[in-house]
Amino acid sequence: MKIFMLWDMEGVSGLFTREHVWFWEPGTRDEIAEEGRKLLVADVNSAVAAALDAGVDELIVCDTHHGGGNIRLPEMLSDPRVTYLQKSRGIQDGKLRWLPGLDESVDGFLVPGHHARAGTPGAFLPHTWMLEWEDFRINGQSVGEMGIEACFAGHWGIPVILAQGDEHACREAEGMFPGIVTACVKHATGRDTCEGPDAATARRLTAEKVAQAVARLRAGGCQPFQPALPMTVAIRMASVEKAEAAAQRPGVARLDDRTVEARVARHCDVVKWIVNTGLDIES
Ligand SMILES: [Zn+2]
Repeated sequence: MKIFMLWDMEGVSGLFTREHVWFWEPGTRDEIAEEGRKLLVADVNSAVAAALDAGVDELIVCDTHHGGGNIRLPEMLSDPRVTYLQKSRGIQDGKLRWLPGLDESVDGFLVPGHHARAGTPGAFLPHTWMLEWEDFRINGQSVGEMGIEACFAGHWGIPVILAQGDEHACREAEGMFPGIVTACVKHATGRDTCEGPDAATARRLTAEKVAQAVARLRAGGCQPFQPALPMTVAIRMASVEKAEAAAQRPGVARLDDRTVEARVARHCDVVKWIVNTGLDIES
């Protein structure tokens, strides 16, 4: 069994403030950003150990938060069965692509450390890819980053087996991916803050859920996320200017002042038309 764990950071165990995770924002203290990064590393190591204990033969771990760069190899659990990708873009078969290694050889897709989609009331740091995307829809269904990533994995028919994050992220995942196991490790107390069990407790919960997810995958209880093709993908932008710029891209239609739309023939092209991220991309 081979699985692919795609880590974001907002939903990591024991991470409770915006400053711990949106470290590029002005005024962020380095030591707080480093605390956040250490929480990510500890959570990844714990979940990886849980997956190996559950009998996974091969595991790809990808750091996607802000494009990656948050995990450092010397700090990671070292095991010949585990491959770490420090960036979400990389080379496979000589070509630059998004999430290298995600292909027909992968049996299950996990989205730990995640957050709810843009506009989710009461969620911790809800957003979808970038703050200027107010609403992202596939065939009319509003989805967040988990939906976009799962759709990409759907290209190879890979089922989504686990999500970890705040209660809203978990509810979002359960609504979209039948059979998914969720690890709810926090709930928001405001848009920028949340609370929950301490990091060690949350890691133990997540480890149990990873084992459950692997067992459910083995039993055939999980499904890929595969919206009907061709897909209509629409984005409502935060500003008219952003919509205007996006509408200049080839094949992109302007639906109204702030909304653009494209039609794509493959699940792996879900965001290629707007951010040139997918398969066979140019650097
Ligand atoms: Zn994210």
